[in-house]
Amino acid sequence: MGMTEELVTWTHEQKCRKAVASLDKNGFTALYCDTPQDAAEYIIAGAADAVTVGFGGSMSIVALGVEQLLREQDKEILNHSAPGLSPAEKLAILRRQLTCDLFLSGCNALTLNGELVNIDATGNRVGAMLFGPQKVIVVAGRNKLVDGTPADAIARVKAWATPPNSKRLNFKTPCCSTGFCNDCNSPDRLCRVTTIIDRRPRLTDLHVLVVNAELGF
Ligand code: SF4
Repeated sequence: MGMTEELVTWTHEQKCRKAVASLDKNGFTALYCDTPQDAAEYIIAGAADAVTVGFGGSMSIVALGVEQLLREQDKEILNHSAPGLSPAEKLAILRRQLTCDLFLSGCNALTLNGELVNIDATGNRVGAMLFGPQKVIVVAGRNKLVDGTPADAIARVKAWATPPNSKRLNFKTPCCSTGFCNDCNSPDRLCRVTTIIDRRPRLTDLHVLVVNAELGF
């Protein structure tokens, strides 16, 4: 690692650690991870007692490569994005994710004050983050950190997360073609449910891993 990269990494580490301290104060189980590998190891260890593992459709989780490892451990994988699923099968998986043993998700934005901000189209992902699964592990790369309010975090999601997500899913939204949000009223609008989790939901064992690496968008 050259000196510039070292200094950049150090600066990001301070922000990540600040978010972790705030999350801890807000009642979450929060952990700083130097690398994606550290996060993957935490997830694998955290899945030890799980029979069913739900995936919320997160590119950050995909980047960790844990799905295959969990499959090799004979976990039942509940991934509604798996290829070849009929609409009915997909819906059944989405429902089962709400009561799985371990639910894995990314986070669209995380404030340095320890608030998790997410925007969903269907609500399955944020629903499972709030209540239902035995354990939830959320992974946030350093690119998700926002030094500001939940309103700033929402702006970050609409500027940097929803446009590439629209494009990935080939949704017919303005942000898919221009890269900018215009608060559309498109039938394909992704922004339908916005959640701010500012304290750990009372009955949810919610862990947040803040990773000093770019993960997802
Ligand atoms: S409101 Fe519409 S244009 Fe704006 S980010 Fe959401 S889907 Fe894209």
